[in-house]
Amino acid sequence: MKIAIYPGSFDPITKGHLDILNTASGIFDKVIIAVAQNSEKRGFLPVETRVKLIRESVKDIPNVEVDSFEGLTINYAHQKGATVLIRGLRAVSDFEYEMQLSQANSALAPDVKTVFLTTKPKYNFISSSTIKEIYINNGDVSKFVPEVVFEYLRSIK
Ligand code: ADP
Repeated sequence: MKIAIYPGSFDPITKGHLDILNTASGIFDKVIIAVAQNSEKRGFLPVETRVKLIRESVKDIPNVEVDSFEGLTINYAHQKGATVLIRGLRAVSDFEYEMQLSQANSALAPDVKTVFLTTKPKYNFISSSTIKEIYINNGDVSKFVPEVVFEYLRSIK
């Protein structure tokens, strides 16, 4: 059974993340989308809220599990019996950071491979930080996030 982890901040989950997840769920037997808890970085939404919103957004994809973790992603992957890490690539600007991260992970854990996926062009530019910026300035984020996220963001305004 091929298990893949899709780690990230998901602060909040976007349609770009969901597109990556849908592709991954068709390739691997099980995909665990996992919110990385970072005690240094407070973030926009609490981790529990991010997990709850992800859970509601992915409920129709059968082979996806939702979780959160602390510490190194490769340790979490070992703990879950996963051999693949999924990361997304948008523009060339993502490439340098993602390349460094995957090489560091592969030096630490050669048994865990990083697989890069891209989204449909219409979701390519979407990032959680752009969404936060639009939302904070009262713009309409409904096109960029799953319905449950949109409803949640509206409810806390
Ligand atoms: P992190 O803080 O770990 O970068 P994010 O939640 O911002 O967490 O993103 C998780 C992963 O999803 C990253 O690999 C990021 O490049 C990818 N990603 C996010 N949005 C998109 C998108 N619109 N298209 C492709 N990849 C994306």
